[in-house]
Amino acid sequence: MIEKKFALIGKPISHSISPALHNFWFKKYKIAAKYFLLEITEDKIEGIINKIRKKEIKGINVTIPYKKTVVPYLDEIINDAEKTSSVNTIYLDDRNRLIGENTDVYGFEKTLTNQLEKNLSGKDVLILGAGGVTSSIIYVLKKLKVKNIFISNRSVKKTEEIKKTFSFINIILWEQKTEKIKEIDLLINATSLGTKNELDFPQMFLNFKKNLIYYDLVYNPAQTKLMKHFIKNNIKVFNGLEMLIYQGQKAFNLWNKINPEVNDVLKKKIMRLV
Ligand code: NDP
Repeated sequence: MIEKKFALIGKPISHSISPALHNFWFKKYKIAAKYFLLEITEDKIEGIINKIRKKEIKGINVTIPYKKTVVPYLDEIINDAEKTSSVNTIYLDDRNRLIGENTDVYGFEKTLTNQLEKNLSGKDVLILGAGGVTSSIIYVLKKLKVKNIFISNRSVKKTEEIKKTFSFINIILWEQKTEKIKEIDLLINATSLGTKNELDFPQMFLNFKKNLIYYDLVYNPAQTKLMKHFIKNNIKVFNGLEMLIYQGQKAFNLWNKINPEVNDVLKKKIMRLV
């Protein structure tokens, strides 16, 4: 039987546990397929994506820093990818068109409503980071009717770029984020700071509301330095593991037309990997 190939493209990606997740489901649903990591430089993107057109690869997930970079190489971006200009899942449709979809929106919304209070209206949110995933986060938060969305990024140019699509966001200079955090109800780390083998935040935040919620999109390690700091200060924290699982669930469904089960056994299995 021919084994179908799926891959995650990005750089760096050695910390990724997406192969474990998808290969677990392939086995469970008896699909002859393999999901592997492809750490590539930007000049290789077009060639890899063309392998889907040639049916050498069945599907691709996209991660840091290429979620927006891949868009020009696709025939169409649809649904949440169109709304966010951010693509994390690619496949060939029935008409042989290369489709870019976004499953981060589903993953983030599902985990936010699963894990946090259902009602986020009235909350002030600060997102740190303005990379490929940030538009998905903003899109979900707006849908859930949070009060104010603030965004802060090392390079302000990227925040200004995002504001062109989401005019309602408020930009906070990177140097002023520590001051802003004092007033925030939900703080989200959407930078790659804290990821295994990468840099972490150089200093911890000391002034914050007693009922602050900290949501870190990083999932490997399961607890970053900043998460540990907030835990010590009795702050409710979440990592990105659930989001990873749910965005993977939707990608798997798009590629294989099977909605794979997410249960506690799977969550525990995946958690043991980080
Ligand atoms: P990108 O590579 O597109 O963006 C990276 C972001 O991190 C940018 O905002 C960048 O700032 C910032 N950054 C990187 N290094 C530093 C630094 N030294 N100091 C300050 N800021 C820094 O990544 P994505 O937006 O795609 O992903 C962001 C994070 O979210 C990653 O850790 C990724 O793994 C995680 N993620 C998790 C998911 C999950 O399912 N749990 C899903 C999607 C993403 P600048 O613009 O200034 O370079």
